[in-house]
Amino acid sequence: MIKIEFLTKKNILILFFVCFSVINTVCLAEANTRITDIRFWQSPEEAQIVLDLTKPPKVTEVNLIKDGSLNFNIKNCSFRPGRQRYPLQNPFLEVLTVQEADKDMSVNVNFKTPAGVQAKTYVLPANERKGDRIVIFLREPAAKQKQKRDAELAEVKQLKSENVKIVVIDPGHGGEDPGTSGNGIIEKNHVMAMGKLVKAYFDRDPRFKAVLTRDGDYIIPLDRRRQIAEHLGADAFVSLHINYNHTKSIRGTEVYYESPKGAVGEAERLVAEIENKVDFADSQIPSPIDPALSKKELIEKQAQTMYKSRFLAEKTEAKLAETIEGLPSRGVKRAGFKVLHSLAMPSILVEFGYVSNSADAAILKNNVNRSKLAQSIYAGVADFLLSEIKDGIDEDYIAYCVQADARKAAAEKAERLRKEKAAKQAKLKKAKTTATYKVKAGDTLSKIASVKGISLNSLLKANALSLNSVIKIGQVLKIPEK
Ligand SMILES: [Zn+2]
Repeated sequence: MIKIEFLTKKNILILFFVCFSVINTVCLAEANTRITDIRFWQSPEEAQIVLDLTKPPKVTEVNLIKDGSLNFNIKNCSFRPGRQRYPLQNPFLEVLTVQEADKDMSVNVNFKTPAGVQAKTYVLPANERKGDRIVIFLREPAAKQKQKRDAELAEVKQLKSENVKIVVIDPGHGGEDPGTSGNGIIEKNHVMAMGKLVKAYFDRDPRFKAVLTRDGDYIIPLDRRRQIAEHLGADAFVSLHINYNHTKSIRGTEVYYESPKGAVGEAERLVAEIENKVDFADSQIPSPIDPALSKKELIEKQAQTMYKSRFLAEKTEAKLAETIEGLPSRGVKRAGFKVLHSLAMPSILVEFGYVSNSADAAILKNNVNRSKLAQSIYAGVADFLLSEIKDGIDEDYIAYCVQADARKAAAEKAERLRKEKAAKQAKLKKAKTTATYKVKAGDTLSKIASVKGISLNSLLKANALSLNSVIKIGQVLKIPEK
């Protein structure tokens, strides 16, 4: 999963940021990297340019050059076509030129964006799915984004005033992140098609309005998926996925909602965020979290949302389970999926089955089955939204928090005791090594050693003396540790 985090700063139109974490580790002249592919992804709000490489690249800083274009070099790099110019002329990118520079064996990347577009460049290390990459993220101007969101919000507000329920459907993955795949199914594509079907079922019913987090093949950060729903004040959030397991016999649908462990982690993150006085107003989408919430209130709010999420999960699972004969339900489960960490609305994640299981895959590839599954998501969510569900709290979560607090307090106490003990020992050691003795009349070195319970040798050594040394009354001797 690619981490995308856009900085926002007032009065700065274009931001550049290159992660050099990998760069310093690869400096050998023979370790040439090669650009194997250049790919483009685009969503309504942003675009990505991905340069696939054979090895971790060594990249120079991004420079703004006179004509308003941006430029960086990849050192010790080759690009087989020599030079390639991509005149894209889209809302994010006017032109991209990738060119080998013969003289210093580097490749020059030059790109020009329309005014106001924000650009950020990352070097991403290889993972089990992808090789080394340089990714350039381009986002539309902040003012334009705000304009769009405001229009969206006004429409939703109107619908809500007419008592229409808002359901946000989140087709998982997309773009650079294909999700899982197998038996002829690529998760990102399948869940996109499913998302559109589910939305169609909701939109046919005047009591509901469904909004997709993405409607094309592009990636959206996990946080932003639920932020979209939170911003719209959605009544329910449903993330769509397909599962994979190395054990090919594992199969069936699953419906997840937030786990206590995931929620505790999120509560801690939010408290840290509030304590660090993160300026929510400055972020791309305003946070629904009231910065004045105490940790206790935050946990309570989580427990209330989770309580409802459980009903949403159960009702959806009940419909899914009876949809297709031969597609078993693995039931309702809890897990700490980042996309489910919402305080604002009940949220679930649906796994439609396992691509790794050929029977599940065959069912999922069938169009009639797809429609049936989409309809059952609609039916389950609608059942939840139209039922009278009283307020309550997730008791398991509260119990978990109490235990977690006790565990944390015990760990803190143990750590405090350990530190105290270590400090005591250090003090004792220091006292021992710095112990001194003032010579009195009648003292001899061997007498002092014997009184102090140490060997004569160690006394001599500690004071750089020999057996023939003479000591004087009033002389201060160091007394070494026993
Ligand atoms: Zn997935």
